[in-house]
Amino acid sequence: MELLEYFLPDASTLSLKHWELDAESHQMVLTVCSTQAVGCCPLCQSLTGRIHSRYERTLKDLPLAQFGLTIVLEVCKFFCLNETCRRRIFTERLPTMVAPWARRTRRYAEQLTAIALSLGGGAAVRLGQHLNAEASRNTFLHLIARLSFPETDTPRILGVDDFALRRGHQYGTILVDLETHQPIALLPDRRAETLAECLKAHPGVEILSRDRSKTYKRGMNEGAPEAIQVADRFHLLHNLEETLEKAFKGHNQVFRRVEQAQTPDHAVVAPESPEPLLPSAVTKRAQRLERYQQVHALRQQGFRIEDIAHHLGMGQRTVYTYLSHETFPEWQPSIRRRGSGLDPYKSYLLELLDDNEPVG
Ligand SMILES: [Zn+2]
Repeated sequence: MELLEYFLPDASTLSLKHWELDAESHQMVLTVCSTQAVGCCPLCQSLTGRIHSRYERTLKDLPLAQFGLTIVLEVCKFFCLNETCRRRIFTERLPTMVAPWARRTRRYAEQLTAIALSLGGGAAVRLGQHLNAEASRNTFLHLIARLSFPETDTPRILGVDDFALRRGHQYGTILVDLETHQPIALLPDRRAETLAECLKAHPGVEILSRDRSKTYKRGMNEGAPEAIQVADRFHLLHNLEETLEKAFKGHNQVFRRVEQAQTPDHAVVAPESPEPLLPSAVTKRAQRLERYQQVHALRQQGFRIEDIAHHLGMGQRTVYTYLSHETFPEWQPSIRRRGSGLDPYKSYLLELLDDNEPVG
């Protein structure tokens, strides 16, 4: 076997006829022919050895070192001898090497697909230029779109939740196999009917986990009435958090009185001692801190200020302010003095503060 034959896509069905190498343009061309004596009709699957004609297919293949590799493949056209078959003539297929009609070998297409799956369109183009695997952005994206979905069994425990296609405007539904922790389907909306249809088409789910919305409950009752429905942990904790926040929020004045009762009458808080934060203020601070970190993270990824503001649903001025601070800007508590003229309005102002996200 000639050395170059080891590099052929499938040496068992191909024979190398000759090769050319152009050192200047870094291109190599291998001319190969099929060694299959018979062809299999793609319509009726009957075998035939009666050749109609021969023709050449030019295929791009994986690069060899610094050389781009082109394979000129000589294949046959066969007559189908099955008289009941509608196909009279068919072209020889080499399924291990190349798909029908394709202009790339299978292994080269697989390499491009792997790059596209890892990097997406634009970055795949940039890496491809370095790897001698050049293709356009659209080609990379088409390769991904052409992939078939892996076959999955209907899961026993299924998680259902919504996700934002565009936050505040358009939502879809994601279905997750909670035993393998793999997403298995995306539904185009979050309507009960869509979920019910999907569950009916894939019977056998035993446990359904969901948020506490009535829509999904209705979809599950319709689509899989025999399955047990459970509230998922995330939404239970989230609901608890919201409830506690609401409960504390309504009692600011009580917290204030408790705080005043514990503070000696004549005490004046020094500027460096921060005012103790009320529970709702603790939550607010955590939310602000999270926002602050998200703003900086998005900016580092190169997003524009208006895009960050849009994405996080906040004002551009706040984004500017957050970006101008290298460390998290704490909300500055006022210095309390006995008998301040502000005292009569303090509870009112605190309520306002709780209701409005402070800027900066
Ligand atoms: Zn046939």
